[in-house]
Amino acid sequence: MYFCSLYSGSSGNALFCQYGRTRVLIDAGKTGSCLSEALGQIGVKPETLDGILITHEHSDHILGAGVMARKYHLPLYATQETWRAMEGKIGKIPGELIRTVQAGKDFWLGEMGVAPFSIPHDAADPVGYRLWGGRMSVSTATDLGFFSENVYSGIAGSTLILLESNHDPEMLRANPRYNQALKARILSDRGHLSNEACAGALLRLIAGGTENLILGHLSGDNNTPALARRVSEAAMRREGIIPGEDVQMQIAMRDTIGDVYTLKEKD
Ligand SMILES: [Zn+2]
Ligand SMILES: [Zn+2]
Repeated sequence: MYFCSLYSGSSGNALFCQYGRTRVLIDAGKTGSCLSEALGQIGVKPETLDGILITHEHSDHILGAGVMARKYHLPLYATQETWRAMEGKIGKIPGELIRTVQAGKDFWLGEMGVAPFSIPHDAADPVGYRLWGGRMSVSTATDLGFFSENVYSGIAGSTLILLESNHDPEMLRANPRYNQALKARILSDRGHLSNEACAGALLRLIAGGTENLILGHLSGDNNTPALARRVSEAAMRREGIIPGEDVQMQIAMRDTIGDVYTLKEKD
């Protein structure tokens, strides 16, 4: 199973995953040309994708979804309410490319199993995804107001997890360029996950057996990659977990393509 973060953050999200011959994107929140170029950089022709899984209708997740679907004839997968909310934003999608998913209802996309789960976020019907290939699975959960039990059960035990580490609450509160309403929205239980909340969640996920972690959807204004890493690593060390030895942790950057993970089944 292969996984790569192409973009992650409020200026655009797109994650690539492959198992066997099945290739998908989770979200398409950059322009079509940006996404095509990023895929090219990891050796993937966009027309070889089998579909795009949409988490929710915010523009940092769907900006290029319509263009990619039409240009490369790619099916788009989203919940019914997400379809309703994004319809006016992504242009006309031919009926044969429309796929509807439902939280809690697993399905096959080619050789890959897909398990959507509900997430707490201020969108119509947002979901995260767990993707299965053999005994391996990759889960992505960003745009989380808090780390709910539903999210935990959706992703626990995955081989690789990309989890949101959005902001430092002190940096956010002190940011003069964010008005009170925006601050309140981000800090609410339908907003975004703080570094501290992410660190607490990671400890539970590591206890559940996950050894590969990626921190994602970092704020460009209210966080830094170094700070996000420091908070999570400090929490691990307090529990006797050694980052880099017991678990591998990377940061999904906002505008830099991440490493391509190759996940192999353990005997
Ligand atoms: Zn987002
Ligand atoms: Zn969002």
